[in-house]
Amino acid sequence: MKRIAIIGAGASGLFLAKKWSGKDDMKVCVFEKNKQVGTKLRASGGGKCNLFNTFVDAKCYNHSAFAEKLLLKVTPARLQHEFEEMGLQMVADEEGRVYPLSQFSQTVVDILLDNLGENVHFEMEYEVKKVFKQDGFWHINDYPIPFDEVVFASGSPANMIPKNRKNYNGYLTDFNISVKDFQPSLVGFVIKDYPKTLSGCRVKVVASLYQRETLIHSEPGEVTFKDDGISGIVILNLSAYYNRLEDKGDCFVELNFLYANPDYDVQEHLHKYHSLRGLLHPKLNELYERHPFDVKKYKMAIEGTYDLAFAQVCHGGIDLDEVDDHFALKKYPGIYVTGEMLDMDGICGGYNLFFAFASALLVAEW
Ligand SMILES: Cc1cc2nc3c(=O)[nH]c(=O)nc-3n(C[C@H](O)[C@H](O)[C@H](O)COP(=O)(O)OP(=O)(O)OC[C@H]3O[C@@H](n4cnc5c(N)ncnc54)[C@H](O)[C@@H]3O)c2cc1C
Repeated sequence: MKRIAIIGAGASGLFLAKKWSGKDDMKVCVFEKNKQVGTKLRASGGGKCNLFNTFVDAKCYNHSAFAEKLLLKVTPARLQHEFEEMGLQMVADEEGRVYPLSQFSQTVVDILLDNLGENVHFEMEYEVKKVFKQDGFWHINDYPIPFDEVVFASGSPANMIPKNRKNYNGYLTDFNISVKDFQPSLVGFVIKDYPKTLSGCRVKVVASLYQRETLIHSEPGEVTFKDDGISGIVILNLSAYYNRLEDKGDCFVELNFLYANPDYDVQEHLHKYHSLRGLLHPKLNELYERHPFDVKKYKMAIEGTYDLAFAQVCHGGIDLDEVDDHFALKKYPGIYVTGEMLDMDGICGGYNLFFAFASALLVAEW
């Protein structure tokens, strides 16, 4: 009988527990520091839970070569099959974003917890602070039962207030592995010399991230103007590309407000109507009348990102070179790592949960 500890009852930890449920040769103990399981899973996709994407593209991750290798083993179709086998029905939108048919994230948590075998046990409100090896077994804090194997599935401090993210994943410090500091990703930008009058305005644009003259990434979407910066899914995606830059100097976002008709002749419009009232959101028009700007190339210099508390995921984590193809730590046999603890992050649209579930699936099949 193999005894296995899973640290964290989030997306990847619950998925693993479900996969191992009912196995006669395993006893699984899931340690969760919170009162409830699957906190981020329930918050995901605005409460609808965007499970994965049918078009997962390796290039949308920070380590695309690693993602490509992973996608050879776990495809979106395979993950869909896994969830169908658990009894979950799903639906995809036109951009390939897959949600539970119920459009309710709790359904995913319920399915993962449904009919769990007696070989799976939860230790709730139990924070793992120390993991160490003694007499050939892995030990957790002063827990009386030793383990043959341990899965690190405790995620990242994204979306947490400073008090809750203090010493996050602190138990890693006893391991001689390379861990890159966590940075907020899928997060809004704080903008230099921000025109506060735009606060509250939401418009469709094509948003492009530039560093000096170089275009880093561009895509259409809706931008939300906050009190001191910009947000919205399109901006969160730009933040993922911004984080991948070693040097973040001189970056700016360029907004094309004429997203639907980029060839429209603005000068001719101005000549004929003497204002842009018929083209722009009223707040943008008001700004234009005070300080005219290029409505196809409105530049906003990036000061930085919003705090980790506003981020959907983290950039950084355990270096991917530390794990093998089954997400086992190369230097510590018997330890596996899944999900956001690893230095892997993707854009919005189901990329991060896909990675959490896909990594758990490969651990389940070691
Ligand atoms: C608001 C929001 C919306 C999101 N929407 C989406 C989306 O729609 N689609 C998508 O793909 N991704 C989305 N994400 C990202 C996605 O939720 C995460 O990438 C994913 O949950 C990571 O899974 P994980 O298993 O690595 O970690 P988590 O799901 O975060 O689970 C980690 C678990 O470990 C526990 N834990 C931590 N430390 C310890 C410890 N020391 N001892 C014991 N337990 C511990 C935590 O309490 C937690 O329950 C969203 C994230 C947020 C915050």
